[in-house]
Amino acid sequence: MSLPKIFVTRQLPERGLNPLLSHAEIEIWPERQPPAYEILLEKVQQIDGLLCLLTDRIDEQLINTGKSLKVISQMAVGYDNIDIKAATNRKIPVGNTPGVLTDATADLTWALLMCAARRIIESEQYVRAGSWQTWEPTLLLGTDLSGATLGIVGLGRIGEAVARRASGFNLRVIYSSRHRRSKEIEAALGVEYVEFNRLLQESDIITLHTALSKETHHLISYAQFALMKRSAILINTARGAIVDPQALYQTLKSGQIAGAALDVTEPEPIPLDSPLLSLKNLIITPHIGSASYQTRLKMATMAANNLLAGLLNQPLPYCVNPEIYS
Ligand code: NAP
Repeated sequence: MSLPKIFVTRQLPERGLNPLLSHAEIEIWPERQPPAYEILLEKVQQIDGLLCLLTDRIDEQLINTGKSLKVISQMAVGYDNIDIKAATNRKIPVGNTPGVLTDATADLTWALLMCAARRIIESEQYVRAGSWQTWEPTLLLGTDLSGATLGIVGLGRIGEAVARRASGFNLRVIYSSRHRRSKEIEAALGVEYVEFNRLLQESDIITLHTALSKETHHLISYAQFALMKRSAILINTARGAIVDPQALYQTLKSGQIAGAALDVTEPEPIPLDSPLLSLKNLIITPHIGSASYQTRLKMATMAANNLLAGLLNQPLPYCVNPEIYS
């Protein structure tokens, strides 16, 4: 009997695909750039399983073109690039990789937070530019974390991990989310629930950790920036489109808030002629939240295990549309 065919849309960390080796005929897209949509459309007609990334548009047309497609496995926790409804309509399970990237992404959030608060990137550039003449009382002043208020928007896995890391910094931590957590969880995490607008008004640092959806698209735009303190810093390691880039540019340019740090942008990659890149009070990293050797291997292995389960007609260990099984 011939093995099921799968298409993997990029080269993954070595060993990540091990669980699939004896179970499937594997084609791996060899290029550095993701396959074009037209190529995906062609490939999907010949496969039983698709292992994809957040850079692939998996829309209704693509899903319906894959007549033999049995499973879609995404190597990411977010799945805003996949039309889940279309997959569910066809009873195709969609897998993701929650949990294994939580700590890495929370670590990066804190790295960006501290870089923005203490102007680390500007300082480093200042030294390399030969501008360091002497110790100066008012050179490159940032903001203290001790005593400040950290506002977490979206207290999911990563939001919680960010909150846990705050405990050593003597911060007040407030959060808003769709659902308020129990008093026990709030106490254990040392967080206080507030309404979204109040969080925007009271926070010195605001960090975004919601999933991207219709409700959270441009959740932060002109009206929300207008509520923030002039000294506020915004961190986004969730998804670029949660922040309106035009509003962010106007706000940072006019000094209406102090600074921002983004690991994700709208669009990605950010175009080199984007006015955002001209701003000194903005730090941007290229979507590296989960980019550690250990985490990426765990994500690849988890995605491979999800795919394998789908090929074997077993429930996916991590499935975003489990309703297909009922
Ligand atoms: P998660 O556990 O599902 O948490 C997402 C949280 O967002 C949920 O707790 C949910 O709150 C909240 N939320 C959803 N819609 C909301 C809304 N309209 N208003 C307020 N809160 C809302 O997911 P996670 O594992 O923490 O990951 C969060 C996101 O981070 C992912 O979706 C992904 O896009 C992004 N991410 C980025 C990187 C990176 O490389 N930069 C890496 C990993 C993940 P409730 O629980 O209250 O409903």
